[in-house]
Amino acid sequence: MQWPQVRGTLLLSPHSDRLEEKALMLAASFLREGKLVAFPTETVYGLGANALNPLAVSQIFKAKGRPADNPLIVHIAGIEQAFALAREVPPEARLLARYFWPGPLTMVLPKHQNIPNITTAGLSSVALRVPSHPLALRLIREAGIPIAAPSANISGSPSPTTAAHVLADLAGHIDAVLDGGHCSVGLESTVVSLLSSPPALLRPGWVTRGMLEDILKKKVMDFSALHMDEQSPGPVLSPGMKYRHYAPQAPLFLVEGEGEPQRRQLMALAEGFVMQGRRLGLLLFEESKSYFSAPVKVVLGSRSDPAAVARRLFYALRKLDFLGVDVIVAEGLEEKDLGKAIMNRLRKAALKIMRPDGKGGFLWVKG
Ligand code: AMP
Ligand code: MG
Repeated sequence: MQWPQVRGTLLLSPHSDRLEEKALMLAASFLREGKLVAFPTETVYGLGANALNPLAVSQIFKAKGRPADNPLIVHIAGIEQAFALAREVPPEARLLARYFWPGPLTMVLPKHQNIPNITTAGLSSVALRVPSHPLALRLIREAGIPIAAPSANISGSPSPTTAAHVLADLAGHIDAVLDGGHCSVGLESTVVSLLSSPPALLRPGWVTRGMLEDILKKKVMDFSALHMDEQSPGPVLSPGMKYRHYAPQAPLFLVEGEGEPQRRQLMALAEGFVMQGRRLGLLLFEESKSYFSAPVKVVLGSRSDPAAVARRLFYALRKLDFLGVDVIVAEGLEEKDLGKAIMNRLRKAALKIMRPDGKGGFLWVKG
């Protein structure tokens, strides 16, 4: 089989069961040989390498331009594999695995010496996840090794939710991408640390803090909002938290709040940019699209369907760049359940944020 190539990167796009098998075999053999293969997961596309091979892992950091102090999530096919990678798999981890694995939950556990330091950026802990995407699971099983995989994008840009996004960022820098269509969740996994008691939420995602607390029947601390800037010294809980992330090329201005006051603030900001002659793009929810008349409007979906919003968020950010806007004005939504993960990503993508000041006005809170 001759697979198409984009600047030397193989595009493994199977259109039949037989081709799927061939694509998986090839991708798995690449991973065993220490090469880089991007693959679909239910959250976003991952850039995979053999987690036990320091040279292969170093290529991930190089291809993405990822800071060396930002550790990687290690993807496995089932909890059995965790015992060789974590020094301890506490009962809480087994309980969470029973409910959420395979699925969009990453658990931070004490690291086993089997894992090279580069994979965990020198930390004594390791982040583990069993993805639920059938191609990801089959790939990890077929490769027979744990796969270190951050999101398959250039560091800082919006995470990829299609194989085309991966190629746009990384063609020519990685060996292959396995095409599994659109990601169903669309946001990165929830990260929970089981190093502390009570456990700590480090990154919000599809699995919410409430869901974790329901299963564990205990409190989970929320550390996901701790803001670390890139200069912050000293140890950090989840090093990825300190970097600007998910940002489109055009500067994004986020307006938080709700209802009429939020809409008026969005309009004022948008009009200001149009007056300056900027090519404005609006990122809106279904409910407010008819209020705005900018030439470029990207609609994320209804506020009442946050799962659809999550699925489209990174796609929408990339689309706005593709449409060539030079400034983006986006509206925020309520930080409830999945809304918390959506707002976490939007805030990191934003250059500046406007928030209600509690006295009927708005104030800038970032930048
Ligand atoms: P990504 O770059 O999207 O794959 O994100 C991986 C996230 O997991 C980042 O926020 C990392 O900081 C976090 N992470 C990975 N390993 C660890 C670890 N051992 N302890 C805490 N956070 C981790
Ligand atoms: Mg990432």
